[in-house]
Amino acid sequence: MGKGLNLKCIGLIVGVLLLLLLLVKGVFLKTDNAQMPESTVKSERLADSNDKEESDLPKVSSADWELRLVNRNHYTPELNPDLAMVDNIWVDRRIEDQVRGFLEAAQAIDANEHLISGYRSVAYQEELYESYVEQEMAANPDLSRAAAERLVQTYSQPAGASEHQTGLAIDMSTVNSLNASDPEVARQVQDLAADYGFVLRFPQGKAKVTGVDYEDWHFRYVGVQSANYMKKNQLTLEEYVNLLKENNQ
Ligand SMILES: [Zn+2]
Repeated sequence: MGKGLNLKCIGLIVGVLLLLLLLVKGVFLKTDNAQMPESTVKSERLADSNDKEESDLPKVSSADWELRLVNRNHYTPELNPDLAMVDNIWVDRRIEDQVRGFLEAAQAIDANEHLISGYRSVAYQEELYESYVEQEMAANPDLSRAAAERLVQTYSQPAGASEHQTGLAIDMSTVNSLNASDPEVARQVQDLAADYGFVLRFPQGKAKVTGVDYEDWHFRYVGVQSANYMKKNQLTLEEYVNLLKENNQ
């Protein structure tokens, strides 16, 4: 009787141990099976969104120096950039080579292409803006100061609201008057701007976004990657910076 009980006991213990082993194994297998598909889905999703970013929006930040937004909604104090001279015009030293390259490429289209304006201090912009307001009021004595300013702001900006103070903007044309260049030459020059990291800053049909009417001569450096994206998607700097911010860039 004693021997039989012992055998029964051992059999029971072994049985319980086997059962426990199976249970534990089953739980682990279950967990593994449950986790695997989920993590696969997760990594696939990540890969998808990475692919999109790679082929679409450039990996730049709206806080990059090339993308600094200066306009009537973004008044900016004197920036005092480090300057270099190209064609008798001061520009931010960091874009000296790109300005020279763009100018030479434009001159290959029309030898009369030259730089008209580059860096302007906030103090100088104030003088310039004032002189335009006075000119408008002299030409039309019925204009109020506010009306004259509204008129001027379609082609020149108040101190602190002109991106010429960044040293990243240039006016380049065959002639010294706004929108007076041969439109076909202007179109060809505008078309190659992105190769050197520039965009036509105030394009036709975007005055509502930029607050400035079409300017055939005003180019802004934003970097080659961003310039090509903006050109392809017909985005102004305002729209592009907004898009980057929406994407947490
Ligand atoms: Zn300009």
